[in-house]
Amino acid sequence: MRAAVSGRRWSPDGVIRVGDLLHNCHPFPLRRYILPPKSFEVIVAGGGPAGATAAYSLASAGVNVAILDKATFPRDKSCGGGLIAKVLHDLPLDVKPVIRNAMNGMCFTYQFGGRFTKRHYEPVVYGTLRREFDNYLVEQAVRQGATLFDGTGVEGFEQNGEGAVNVLTRAGSLSCRVLIGADGANGVVRRALNNEQAFFNQAGLSFEIERERIIDDRVDGALMRVDWGTLPSGYAWIFPKGDFLNIGVGGPVAIGKRLKPYLHEFLVNERILRTDRVSLDDLNVSGHKLPTFTERTRLSDRNVLVIGDAAGLIEPLTGDGISYGVQSARLAADVVLHWLSGACRDLSEYDETVLREIVPEIVYTRKFLAFFNAFPTLVHQVVSRDDRVWQAFCRVLKGEEAFHLLRRKKMGRLYGVAQYVDRFAFYYEARRLKYPQASETLFQRLVGRMLERIGGLM
Ligand SMILES: Cc1cc2nc3c(=O)[nH]c(=O)nc-3n(C[C@H](O)[C@H](O)[C@H](O)COP(=O)(O)OP(=O)(O)OC[C@H]3O[C@@H](n4cnc5c(N)ncnc54)[C@H](O)[C@@H]3O)c2cc1C
Repeated sequence: MRAAVSGRRWSPDGVIRVGDLLHNCHPFPLRRYILPPKSFEVIVAGGGPAGATAAYSLASAGVNVAILDKATFPRDKSCGGGLIAKVLHDLPLDVKPVIRNAMNGMCFTYQFGGRFTKRHYEPVVYGTLRREFDNYLVEQAVRQGATLFDGTGVEGFEQNGEGAVNVLTRAGSLSCRVLIGADGANGVVRRALNNEQAFFNQAGLSFEIERERIIDDRVDGALMRVDWGTLPSGYAWIFPKGDFLNIGVGGPVAIGKRLKPYLHEFLVNERILRTDRVSLDDLNVSGHKLPTFTERTRLSDRNVLVIGDAAGLIEPLTGDGISYGVQSARLAADVVLHWLSGACRDLSEYDETVLREIVPEIVYTRKFLAFFNAFPTLVHQVVSRDDRVWQAFCRVLKGEEAFHLLRRKKMGRLYGVAQYVDRFAFYYEARRLKYPQASETLFQRLVGRMLERIGGLM
C-alpha cells in the first residue's frame, strides 16, 4: 500500500509505504512523525473516473478525503476510452492534456455489409487511453489534497451505530463518515449493496494497438468505426486515438460466448492488421462487465453511496459509462458536502437526484436497445437514410438533448403508444437472445415497416 499526499513530500518521490508503516516494519524512524492519517471525512473506494472525480470535487471543497484503489496507478482498464463531448463539460477539471484525438463522425456497417459515414460539424467523442486518463484524474485529485492509497483493496466495511464506517483493508482499517463505493462492476462495495441480479449485465472485450501495427490508410483519425446487427445485440468498434487504436466488441452477457468469435470476424473483415492471419492470442485482449441500472439497483445504504459502474450507471445502448460515472460522482460530492455542513439530515438526496437526472435516460436507452434488437433492419435503415436521427444523436452526445425528451418530443400525441412498442420490443429481444440464429420474423418485419411509415410521417 502506498500513499501520495499533496502539498507535502513525505519521501523523495512523494510516496511512502503506508502498508509498511501500518505493520510497523518501515525501516525508517520517520514513521513516528509521519504516520498516515487513519481517519477521513470521506473515503472513496476506487480511483477510476467516477472515484477520482468525486475525490477531486470533495478535496477542492476542503474535505478530508482518501482514495483507496486495489490497483497501483497508472493502471489499465478494459475500455474504448471514448469520452462523449458532454463529459468535458461535466468534469470539474480540464482533461485536454490527456485527450489524444477528436472524432466528429462514424462509419457504420450493418452485418459487415456496405459502409456509410455520418459526420457532425464538430467533435462529438474524444479519444483517451484509460491508463493516462485515469492516472491524470487521480493525480489532479491528489493535487487538490486527496490522499491516495493505491495498491490497497477494500476488503469489506462495517457501519457502526454512531454513523462512522470502518473500511477494512489487508493492511489495517481506516475510518470515515461517508464511504463512496466507486469500485466498478465487480467491487466489494458494489457487491455489498447489489447482487448480480440487480443489474442488466453486458460484457465488453477490447485491446489497444499501436498505429504502426495496422494498415494505416484504413483508418480515418476523425471517425469511429462501428459494425452492428451482426450479433442479436451489441456492436464492434474501432476508436482511433492518435498513435493508438482501440478495437473491441460488446453485448449482453447472455451472448457473451459469441463476443470473441465476433471480434475475430470483425478483424478479419476489416483487414486492418498487418497480417491477415490474426491470432487474438497475440493481442492483449481484456474483458470487463458493463452493469446497467434496473429498478432493483440500490444507490445507497445510510452513509455508504455507490457511483459509476458500482451503481450500474452505464448507458446500455453505446456502453458509455464514463459520462454517468462523472455525473454521479459530482452529484454524490454535492450531497455529501451538504450533509457534512449539516444542511440535510441524511444522504437520501443522492438517490433522489440520480433517479431524477440519470435514471430516466438509462431506462429510455435500455428500451431503445431492446427496440434495436427487435427491429435491427429498421433502425439501420432509418439511421443510414435520415440524417436528422444522426444529428439528434450527436446533440445527445454533446449534452444538448436527452434521449428520453427527444422521444417524447418526436412522438407527440403518439407517445402513449410507445409503451406497447416497448413491450413488444422486449419480447422480441428476449427471443433473439435465446435463439440468436433466428432471423427477423415476417411479423417483426411488418411491424418494422409500419413503424417506419409512422416515423416518416413525424
Ligand atoms: C470493453 C469496454 C469498453 C468500454 N468503452 C467505453 C467507452 O469508450 N466510453 C465510455 O464512456 N465507457 C466505456 N466503457 C465503460 C467504462 O469503462 C466504465 O463505465 C467506467 O470505467 C466506469 O468508471 P468507474 O470509475 O465507475 O469504474 P472503473 O473505471 O472500473 O474503476 C473502478 C476502480 O475501482 C478499483 N477497485 C476495484 N475493486 C476494488 C476494491 N475492492 N478496493 C479498492 N478499489 C477497487 C479498480 O482497480 C478501479 O481502479 C467500456 C467498458 C468496457 C468493458
